[in-house]
Amino acid sequence: MKSSHCFDVVIVGAGASGLSCAAHLLKQNVDLMVLEARPRIGGRVFTQGSPHPSIPIELGAEFIHAASPLVLDLLKKTGHDFYDAQFEQLFLKNGKLIEQKDFWDRFEKVLALPDSERKTDRSMADFLKAHKAIPKDMRDLLIGYIEGFQAADINLIGEKAFAESEKDKRDLNGNNDFRIVGGYCDVLQGLMQNSLKKKIALEHPVTQINWNKKQIEIICTLPSGRRRHIHAKQVVLAVPLAVLQGQHKKSQIEFKPEIPELLPALSHLHVGHVQRLVFIFKTRFWENLSEKNPVCFLRAPHNMYFSTWWTLSPLRAPYLIAWQGGPMAQELSNMSDNARIEKALQTLSKITNRSLAFLKKEVSSVHQHNWSKDPYAMGAYTYTGIENQDYKPKTYPHFHGFLWLTGEAFAKADGQGTVHGALEHGFEIAQKILQAL
Ligand SMILES: Cc1cc2nc3c(=O)[nH]c(=O)nc-3n(C[C@H](O)[C@H](O)[C@H](O)COP(=O)(O)OP(=O)(O)OC[C@H]3O[C@@H](n4cnc5c(N)ncnc54)[C@H](O)[C@@H]3O)c2cc1C
Repeated sequence: MKSSHCFDVVIVGAGASGLSCAAHLLKQNVDLMVLEARPRIGGRVFTQGSPHPSIPIELGAEFIHAASPLVLDLLKKTGHDFYDAQFEQLFLKNGKLIEQKDFWDRFEKVLALPDSERKTDRSMADFLKAHKAIPKDMRDLLIGYIEGFQAADINLIGEKAFAESEKDKRDLNGNNDFRIVGGYCDVLQGLMQNSLKKKIALEHPVTQINWNKKQIEIICTLPSGRRRHIHAKQVVLAVPLAVLQGQHKKSQIEFKPEIPELLPALSHLHVGHVQRLVFIFKTRFWENLSEKNPVCFLRAPHNMYFSTWWTLSPLRAPYLIAWQGGPMAQELSNMSDNARIEKALQTLSKITNRSLAFLKKEVSSVHQHNWSKDPYAMGAYTYTGIENQDYKPKTYPHFHGFLWLTGEAFAKADGQGTVHGALEHGFEIAQKILQAL
């Protein structure tokens, strides 16, 4: 199908960044279209219904990690409620679950050591080698945090970027982590105004972009095999880093002619991996584990698969989330769904001192999505590697006057890898495009 209509802007990807960019352009009456490969919007925001109707299941993002004015405004406009998440930790040590009352104070001191102003950057693995005085329990926690929270490999993540991401956390009355009552999809629903819904073409994977000074042609290869040709003045790629890197044939976008500057502009970025399993149990048996109730986080040593578990506290629900980030998550992505469940329960058995047989009987259902093998994601979220002194990355990557990149990968330090970062970057790119149109 060929069309002679030329849109002002075509946005590729209907995740947080693409939708945010589209919503803001649409407000200014820009003639646009959004092309999304999947049969749904949201990308790595993937909320599902559950056997407990009031408690959704998140297969992707769960927490709002900063009091971002953009996110708070969206929630306010749409009347969606959110609540403060709780982070008290219980640690498995010598077969027992213990509280470490001074945990945050000690850990904050370690987190303050990486230096964002260093002249020569180095990996966090080299940072640890240089800081021999950091005690073993804090080193282990730091590695667990980098692999778990940043989804990063400590040999690849840069000290400067890590230090930068720890600065300037935006809070609301002292907290900067929240959950949305109805699920993360509610935030994105807040963007679906001004007839944005009508501008989104689902099941439209973009496979090729032909460009020259006179015209830009975007080609989608539809599930039927038919090719759809769309024309635009400006194109925004709001797709994950791994898609830009061409990691999977199904989601690859070929440029004719090639844009040789594109890959070098991504060379400082790495795809992080996460495996996240949602267990729904028959009872909240973990509430008997400790005098400390409600239980929030349960942590095993970081070298065990699924060393981090959490409840939905302060909500008392029979849900436990099992979390693995970093290189071990990538390893787990090559296993079957059942093998991952088995690995997770083996660790939970150690943490809770309950037999595997007991835990298996207690499980009501398990929900997971293997993002590392999903062709339209090929990973969980991005982190920044060691700085290359010869190359200064652009905050708003822009090529040949028509091509823009947006997404969590390009967000400011504290927003990289997050939904609020993707939303904010999409909004900022929209402002840049309005100046260019
Ligand atoms: C398990 C997990 C847990 C997470 N937890 C949190 C959390 O608690 N808090 C938080 O803030 N963040 C979290 N994140 C990260 C957060 O989900 C992402 O940073 C954010 O959703 C990314 O938005 P985006 O718009 O950049 O990309 P995406 O949401 O990935 O959107 C990109 C879109 O592009 C589409 N696409 C890809 N290729 C093509 C193509 N060729 N043609 C057309 N369309 C294409 C994709 O289908 C997708 O819809 C988590 C992520 C994962 C995987």
